[in-house]
Amino acid sequence: MHNAPYISPADAASFEACACLASKIGIVTHTRPDGDAIGSALAMKRFLEARCGAAGKCSLLLDTEAPGQVLFLFSPAELGETFVHARDPERTAACAAGCDLLVFLDINTLSRTGALASQYRESGARKILVDHHLDPERASFDLVFSDTDVSSTCELLYLLLSRFPCGAGKDLPEECLDPLLTGITTDTNNFANSVSGMTLSVVSELLDAGARRERILEEIFNRYPERRIRLMGRLLDRGLTLTEKGAAIMVLDRATVAEFGILDGETEGFVNIPLAIDRVKMSLFFKQEEGKYRVSIRSKKGWSANRLAVRYFAGGGHEQASGGQLIPEPGSGVAEVIALACRYTDEFIAHEEH
Ligand code: 5GP
Ligand code: MN
Repeated sequence: MHNAPYISPADAASFEACACLASKIGIVTHTRPDGDAIGSALAMKRFLEARCGAAGKCSLLLDTEAPGQVLFLFSPAELGETFVHARDPERTAACAAGCDLLVFLDINTLSRTGALASQYRESGARKILVDHHLDPERASFDLVFSDTDVSSTCELLYLLLSRFPCGAGKDLPEECLDPLLTGITTDTNNFANSVSGMTLSVVSELLDAGARRERILEEIFNRYPERRIRLMGRLLDRGLTLTEKGAAIMVLDRATVAEFGILDGETEGFVNIPLAIDRVKMSLFFKQEEGKYRVSIRSKKGWSANRLAVRYFAGGGHEQASGGQLIPEPGSGVAEVIALACRYTDEFIAHEEH
């Protein structure tokens, strides 16, 4: 057997007992959810419904919409029942307020949940966390299942669910398989990063149980609109700056977003591309939003995307994949953002070299 993360049987039993006793369960993940966030949230909900008597008691509480590529995972009924704060703030807040158990997935701090973060913080509901990011904010939760060596929250959730007393010795409910495999697939960038023997052994079990890998690959990687690929070409040709120290900087401003008609989530993964260049150590992708730029950071082994995000961009994440934001001086344009990003990253690389 591969090195499985340690999951306390007592904690798994305690999670199950909380779920069975709860009268209303909110399932929460990070704002701008990705495949791992949605996959783990859906699998959690379906497992609790199927095995813990929670049918009709679980609600998905999202801050912003699920990305288009993962909508295939939802049943029509689930799509209708999902609360999205950005679309329906009052009802989402009211649903969250009525929960006596909140399960948080794929976040390390409550601040990552978005607009309802302080409501969650102040809520008297029992709080359980399942996550794989660095530095989980343990004091905010009653129970924490955290491991930073797994590929994804979905991988950890698979191992956790198989340790629930009600799950022991049984196959996972079939409806959990595709969401879990989707999260593992997207968080590893289709098995390019963070894959361990354990990851492959979990995936092997998922496939044997009937997870549909071809369908997932088709939905996630082969259904992009043409504009995404054309914008990629534009950015790689004209919008990529390489520094002497080995930083790759791409900045996407709102004018270009409008020119190509790009929607939220359609630039997912752009940040990975420049890492293919031999002398690039870290890649940063900036996307302009109202009053700020969101930044995605990826690094080659030996360079910490997480430390760069914490130090310069008020963010965090994983060692090789992190994010944060940059609030530029008023009146500064793309050129200033590029210059600042180059300076920060070169300074960081120079510092880490010593
Ligand atoms: P992405 O670049 O795909 O948006 O994010 C990469 C990783 O960084 C994800 O694991 C995500 O959770 C984390 N991350 C992204 N933005 C932030 C942020 O603003 N703060 C923190 N703490 N983590 C972030
Ligand atoms: Mn994740």
